[in-house]
Amino acid sequence: MPSVAIIGAGPSGCYVAQALCKARADAAITIFDALPVPYGLIRYGVAADHQGTKAVIRQFERLFERQGVRFAGNVRLGADVTLDALRAGFDAVVLATGLGADRRLGIPGEDLAGIHGAGEVTRAWNGYPDAVAPPIGRRVVVLGNGNVAIDLVRILAKGAAEFEGSDITGEPGAGVEEITIVGRSAATVARFDPVMVKELARLAGCRIAVLGAEGEGKGIEALQSLHGHAPEGAAKSLTFRFGLTPLRFLGDTAVKGVEFSDGTVIFADTVLTAIGFEGDAARDVLLADASEEGVLAPGLYATGWFRRGPRGTIPENRADALALATRIAADLPRDGGKPGIDVPGMTGFDGWVRIDAAERAAAPEGRVRAKITTHAGLMALAQNTGETGCK
Ligand SMILES: Cc1cc2nc3c(=O)[nH]c(=O)nc-3n(C[C@H](O)[C@H](O)[C@H](O)COP(=O)(O)OP(=O)(O)OC[C@H]3O[C@@H](n4cnc5c(N)ncnc54)[C@H](O)[C@@H]3O)c2cc1C
Repeated sequence: MPSVAIIGAGPSGCYVAQALCKARADAAITIFDALPVPYGLIRYGVAADHQGTKAVIRQFERLFERQGVRFAGNVRLGADVTLDALRAGFDAVVLATGLGADRRLGIPGEDLAGIHGAGEVTRAWNGYPDAVAPPIGRRVVVLGNGNVAIDLVRILAKGAAEFEGSDITGEPGAGVEEITIVGRSAATVARFDPVMVKELARLAGCRIAVLGAEGEGKGIEALQSLHGHAPEGAAKSLTFRFGLTPLRFLGDTAVKGVEFSDGTVIFADTVLTAIGFEGDAARDVLLADASEEGVLAPGLYATGWFRRGPRGTIPENRADALALATRIAADLPRDGGKPGIDVPGMTGFDGWVRIDAAERAAAPEGRVRAKITTHAGLMALAQNTGETGCK
């Protein structure tokens, strides 16, 4: 029986497993993840008030519940197991570890207190184990013109009542009064999904001004339609600005604002950057000779954000995964195969089932779950040690 190790239980890893289950029903597939819970950015990136998007989890659950794919949580590649050990133990190893680090702007003042990357912030707001949500000031600047930037401003602009049906941890924008979202390019080339832009028209306590959104196109129409949104009694304001290139951050120890290349200054107590994500030098080495399908070396493959970079929505990883699975299916041996390996301390899908049930049972009124936000708490349930782990 051929064996496959997929590293990373995010959407890309799950899509590869799904396609392989069809293409090579004889293969024994293990999906390893650094965390004791599966699903990557679906759980820890996708905004807490977009539960519909997170529902894709249900199709991945079938992999583990019915299709015989093994989940091996709490195994971090590089710390708990080496790539060499995995390649020795499995016929195919697929790297689907995504991209965890926030891209930096590389301008003066970037290390001042009060400046945070979107990945750091969205992980904390999504209850990532042991992540601490940074304090958010009264005036916030969000730098970036993609959907993650829109997620940030929407969450900050909402009041507690607007998170009905979510699984948010706390109310991130509780003390926020002014939000400015700034794009380097013109509005015509902003990468916002018009649907996400239009959703802002439902904000119940935030006025919206859109400055400099000239031109044509669906995106521009969506932006223009927001201008002048002014719900009664709104205590917050959101302003869109375009065509401003950040030059430097102002402040001595803590950020006081952003200066742009045309001399514009926007004062802020908190700056959030949403300009993408990046990998490390080890990734560059691994990907140096990657084929278009994601073959890195015999028996070693890469997919998803790890291979392509931080572009594309959850469904966009599927085509990539399908093409790679076709290639792996052809490469796997027809007879025999390596037996696979276990890693000490790994947790199973039953552990996730217990965590999921405990979180749902602990949900406060108006929320769908109360996430367990410590690694120790997740592990207590994953290993069934009898502690609830719930707050
Ligand atoms: C803030 C944010 C919001 C988003 N919102 C949406 C949205 O609303 N809708 C949408 O369609 N798309 C959204 N996306 C994009 C979507 O999340 C990605 O397309 C998708 O998650 C990429 O999948 P992936 O499996 O390649 O990576 P990931 O989802 O990042 O999964 C990687 C997995 O690898 C694991 N891992 C990492 N390192 C190791 C290691 N060393 N050892 C073992 N395991 C490891 C991680 O724990 C994780 O589970 C969002 C992205 C971000 C960042």
